[in-house]
Amino acid sequence: MRRARAGASTHLREELELGGSLIAAASCVVAIGGADLFPIVYLLMAFLVGFMSRVAGLTLLGVALVFDTVANRGASLSTIAAHAAFLGLFAAMYHVVLAARLAAAKRAESGAVARRIREVEERARTFRLVSAGTQDSVPGVKDQEKWLLASVKEIEGAVGSALEIAETALLSHTCAAFLLASDDRSLKLHDCRSASDRVQRERFSAGEGVLGGVLKRGVPVRMRSPDGLRGITYYDGSVAPVKALLAVPIVEGGGLVRGVLVADRLSDEAFTDRDERLLAAVSSEVLRSIEVERVMGYIRKARDEKDRFYRAIEELNRAGSPEQVFLAVLESARQIAGLDFSAVTLVSEEDGKRVHRIARMTGVTAQGRALEGRTFPDNNGLVANVVRYGAPLPGRDLKAMDKQVIFDADTQVRGLLALKIFPLVAGDRILGTLVAGSRKKNALDEDRLGMLEVMAIQAAQAVLRAQLFEQMEKMATTDGLTGLFNHRTFQSKADETLAHARRYGRKCSLILTDIDHFKNVNDTYGHPIGDVVLKGVARIIREKARDTDLVARYGGEEFAVVMPETDARGAETIAERIREAVMAEVFQTETGPLKVTLSLGIATCPDHSTEKKALVDLADQCLYHAKRHGRNQTVSADKLPGVRRLAASG
Ligand code: GH3
Ligand code: MG
Ligand code: MG
Repeated sequence: MRRARAGASTHLREELELGGSLIAAASCVVAIGGADLFPIVYLLMAFLVGFMSRVAGLTLLGVALVFDTVANRGASLSTIAAHAAFLGLFAAMYHVVLAARLAAAKRAESGAVARRIREVEERARTFRLVSAGTQDSVPGVKDQEKWLLASVKEIEGAVGSALEIAETALLSHTCAAFLLASDDRSLKLHDCRSASDRVQRERFSAGEGVLGGVLKRGVPVRMRSPDGLRGITYYDGSVAPVKALLAVPIVEGGGLVRGVLVADRLSDEAFTDRDERLLAAVSSEVLRSIEVERVMGYIRKARDEKDRFYRAIEELNRAGSPEQVFLAVLESARQIAGLDFSAVTLVSEEDGKRVHRIARMTGVTAQGRALEGRTFPDNNGLVANVVRYGAPLPGRDLKAMDKQVIFDADTQVRGLLALKIFPLVAGDRILGTLVAGSRKKNALDEDRLGMLEVMAIQAAQAVLRAQLFEQMEKMATTDGLTGLFNHRTFQSKADETLAHARRYGRKCSLILTDIDHFKNVNDTYGHPIGDVVLKGVARIIREKARDTDLVARYGGEEFAVVMPETDARGAETIAERIREAVMAEVFQTETGPLKVTLSLGIATCPDHSTEKKALVDLADQCLYHAKRHGRNQTVSADKLPGVRRLAASG
């Protein structure tokens, strides 16, 4: 009986001894008390058949019959037969009923365990599906995120579920998983199911006690002591004595011990082989969850990177001017890949030759920031080659990175250990390059290179868009033939300049010009030559005016110059320069050289008026005056009869 209580299986001999003595005792009772007590033997039989193995039960049934026959030697055959029949019936009935109940209980228990295992497997499967999904599909990020977060919770609960199964199946007091810290010297609780709240939550030594032994030897340990086990280190403070313990190491495929899984009981009931197998299965579940947590961490990081990436792309698409685009590209590239050096270069054709320009850069070169705006011709540097071949460079890790020519031989970028230059390709055009460099050797891994490559494509589109936008803006504000500002722009810029002059009490002059007898030019040389002359005159006015002056084509062969910070005298000087230069210019035509002259009129703010319309009218009157008085001359409103100077008159 003691062996049975300790959980060990009993031997057949022991069962027969016990059963035999019970039957003998019962027979004695019947012999003393009379035949009416014989049903005691029936009940005893039912009990023996129910609780002992089948062989023992059948043998004891035979023994009981022999006892009965011997004790009732005088009884009739029919009485003995009846006794035998009833004994058999009781035994059989009890056996059937008990077996059915036991089978039902067993089925229920294994059903519950199987269900829990299925749940855990289902969670693991969900997780795998989601993690596979987030890695390669881009749309619907929001939904995926919800899924992912839900699965993370599921996974994190998986160890808990496994421990719960172990706790239920093992009837343990505590079932806990402890993992080794990175220094291998201490253990830390990972998760536990315990009836006690004293399970050690702080780190404790991995070299002591029962757990220390399990870790050292890497094999499972089973212990039992009716007086309480020693060497139990995983409780905090004094607790009820642990009388039975089962501990299995958590071992990786390569044999590396990662921790220990322990189950204990306060009752003096030993753990069995089956218990050990179950806990070993749970330990592999714990191991898997550690691995999963590592992967989850990686996925979270990747997700953050992708978030940044999408934001960067959005930023790029919002950028309007090329300048904003360059800024957005470099800022995003820096954020995505943590770059130490980045630059955008643009390529253009000048006189049939490629010219590269460093439009924008971040990071430090040997020359400091001076590289921005720098141009260099087509050469054998990396940027030029990327534009030439339309493919990213360099292909592999470069040994002598510092010797690499990125832009041209005069611009050195030192200290980079990783470098990649992407072409900015839009359609079939290569607009320039995106240069990405880092001082960290492994900064440009495959993921980051992939994101930078997509960035480069987006950046190219954005640059192209911005350039087209600029071009359209230019078309809307300038005159197609001469390249000067058009009439509409003249009006708005003149408004701005005059408003500024009025507000700050500054001078501002306006010149209106008209080519003399231009109709004759058209009539004699043809309209195309007329256009050549118009372009030539426009160029001369632009050249002779100052950078701060606004030069516009006012009408057909009329031009206007708005001159901030310029009084009538200053305007006259410039006007005369223009007039003389135009007069000196010789236009070569098929029918011989051609020369033209200009008439010019000048009005000044605030001397003659502070209103644009009045000033334009006045300059026009001056122009008319010049025309009537021989053309090829400059007339200022000062000299116009009947015009009073506002300033002079107060
Ligand atoms: P005036 O000295 O009085 O100014 O004589 P004009 O012949 O220049 O007279 P007007 O200013 O009225 O003539 C303007 C001429 O300029 C009329 C038109 O044929 C010519 N013209 C206007 N726009 C263009 C253009 O875009 N191209 C060419 N070739 N001719 C133009
Ligand atoms: Mg005219
Ligand atoms: Mg004219």
